[in-house]
Amino acid sequence: MNNTLSVARRQVLGEGRGLDQQQVLACLNLPDDAASDLLALAHEVRMRWCGPEVEVEGIVSVKTGGCPEDCHFCAQSGRFTSPVRSVWLDIDDLVASARATAATGATEFCIVAAVRGPDERLMSQVREGIAAIRATVSINVACSLGMLTPAQAAELAAMGVHRYNHNLETARSYFDRVVTTHTWQERHATCELVRSQGMELCCGAIIGLGETLEQRAELAAQLAALDPDEVPLNFLNPRPGTPLSEHPLVDGKEALKTIAAFRLALPRTVLRYAGGRELTLGDLGTRAGMLGGINAIIVGNYLTTLGRPAGSDIEMLTELKMPIKALSGTL
Ligand code: SF4
Repeated sequence: MNNTLSVARRQVLGEGRGLDQQQVLACLNLPDDAASDLLALAHEVRMRWCGPEVEVEGIVSVKTGGCPEDCHFCAQSGRFTSPVRSVWLDIDDLVASARATAATGATEFCIVAAVRGPDERLMSQVREGIAAIRATVSINVACSLGMLTPAQAAELAAMGVHRYNHNLETARSYFDRVVTTHTWQERHATCELVRSQGMELCCGAIIGLGETLEQRAELAAQLAALDPDEVPLNFLNPRPGTPLSEHPLVDGKEALKTIAAFRLALPRTVLRYAGGRELTLGDLGTRAGMLGGINAIIVGNYLTTLGRPAGSDIEMLTELKMPIKALSGTL
């Protein structure tokens, strides 16, 4: 067996210690004919340190589009010509969406807003929405509302927000190439705030923004250093009107190697398929990733792009004999 893989087997599978930056890079550089061994090892690691269960989550946007930030991959930025208009969702719709998500078997429901950070109007809507959901639907509530102040983080934790999503998006050394309106350090600071308030941290990445393999490995190491409970892995889906609209998709094999390498860097983390997987991997690739380190999915539609119908993902999990994780006792 390839030396990179035998070291990873001993260290990650045997001892539960994630790969470091150089070791992740070695995995990303493995030849394509070693990809199936890499994926098989990542699957063994996932089964050993996380188990066979798959965590299913639905997301809903309470405020879509019109964001003042300029993340070059995002159709919700108000600075580009992307055809996403600013829309606010009301509380009844929010509760209906939480109920529909729970009916798929999902255990997490994430309320998302396209903002730099929440203002008082958004905080009050979230306050009301969470109270309404918790009163009637049995599901964990997560939020993704941008950068937080310490007081906002404390309030969300007190409201019972189970998990907070704030992505690092890309490597620190590449970040200013794709975002100029805030810094990687600001994002990192919100992630630390979330942890300090005792909420679970969901901190994701977008692969394929033009970063090098070295920077991809850097990102894996920076994520591992934050020790997040969950990492949603997105692949760039180039959106019309954004600066990355003409950017090529990540090659499918490369995407699968990335999934496996991130699993080996983060043996105990929930590694979730997020946006762009349908386009980058297709159905066959999606299954390969589920057998290569992924242990969570987002069902239904993403924020501005269509996903697969929830039912077809649930069927795939049944075929793969992967049980849906039951709702934990954290409500
Ligand atoms: S990624 Fe978030 S912060 Fe950046 S433009 Fe999109 S909604 Fe705004």
